[in-house]
Amino acid sequence: MTMSGRQCGDCTLCCKVMAIEELAKPVNTWCAHCKPGHGCLIYLNRPAECRSFACVWLVNELLGDHWKPNQSKLVLTTSDDGLEVRCDPGFPDAWRKEPYHSELREWAISGEALDMTVVVVVGQRMTLVTPEHEFDLGIVGPDERIVRELEGTKVVNATVAKASDLEQ
Ligand code: SF4
Ligand code: SF4
Repeated sequence: MTMSGRQCGDCTLCCKVMAIEELAKPVNTWCAHCKPGHGCLIYLNRPAECRSFACVWLVNELLGDHWKPNQSKLVLTTSDDGLEVRCDPGFPDAWRKEPYHSELREWAISGEALDMTVVVVVGQRMTLVTPEHEFDLGIVGPDERIVRELEGTKVVNATVAKASDLEQ
């Protein structure tokens, strides 16, 4: 049950692209308990991480039907910084397809004033989408953070730094 009334139905893409710590399941591999296109074989006993997870498409009807993850090949989640867009690794260019690419750009434009980022994740590679650029950040490790260089609210450069270096 969700607030939006949407249901996962035949989508199981988060069970592939998301990491599940409790199961030591890495990103971008099918969970051993998933029957792709059908659902979870241990649904009643699935980990808390899975119980609490809902992608943005599931909970937000502002996102069009075409964003359904098994159709778009993109799983959207939010972080403290903004929107994260994870590509099905079998379709690494899914985010460049229309209408998705244009909508990502529109969100980057509306997010700029709010300091909300749009980050596309393909495998371990990340791309920061801004109104004017796409910053290919390469492989961003779990201990690394995206550092944006701003002029006003406009992002003029983006790099990656170790989280531990930023804390110093
Ligand atoms: S990606 Fe979203 S719609 Fe698809 S199974 Fe996961 S929560 Fe449901
Ligand atoms: S345990 Fe079930 S819900 Fe959780 S990732 Fe695996 S298949 Fe998906």
